Amino acid sequence: MSIWKPIKPPYIEYKKKVFEKAIKVGSFIHQIGELDDLRRPSKQIPINKITSKDTKAKIKYVKNCLIKYRKLTGYGRGITAVQLGIPDRFSVIYIGQTIKNVKNKKDVTFKDLMVTINPKITRRSKKLLRYPEMCMSATPIIVPTIRPAWIEFDYYNEKGNLQHWDTKDDTDVGKMMNRVFQHEFDHMEGIVNIDVIKNPREIILESDPDFYKNAKFTKV
Ligand SMILES: [Zn+2]
Repeated sequence: MSIWKPIKPPYIEYKKKVFEKAIKVGSFIHQIGELDDLRRPSKQIPINKITSKDTKAKIKYVKNCLIKYRKLTGYGRGITAVQLGIPDRFSVIYIGQTIKNVKNKKDVTFKDLMVTINPKITRRSKKLLRYPEMCMSATPIIVPTIRPAWIEFDYYNEKGNLQHWDTKDDTDVGKMMNRVFQHEFDHMEGIVNIDVIKNPREIILESDPDFYKNAKFTKV
């Protein structure tokens, strides 16, 4: 008869890396529980202030933080200003990716980044998709989050010009883009993805190194 032995949890080595990354990005990303503004709506930027020196400096800082985040972790698709302690309504989104190159595209420049200021969603798809999301402010939590397949929205770019997004690309990259915008715009309302989950039992911590290789959009 064999003697009882404890069962060790899996992925011990990978989990060390996960938390090492969380510690590194925790030096500039504000996490849930640390900052009240993360749960409050951010302020509109007056249109005549979009090109002001102050706003430019803030945008530059958020861009540099997204670049830094990707260098440290190999991923990260968007940061909303409030996550860096700036309660103004703008996000910086990484647009240089496809799903396949998401891992090897660490060296990002300003050209790969899009700025959305004062966005206003004008249409939402009735089709809903579930996808396991992470949030930089809640690393390493993974939340299967249900969102409309696409949205349309108006926003200002960093030059202060009004723009419209209506790309309903049905590829995984297109679905991802439409999702990232929604995730980031929620931050401007003070909403983190863990706040909108229907079943808290679906929340997991990043653990399996192959998790995102197998992650899929599923219809709800
Ligand atoms: Zn987030």
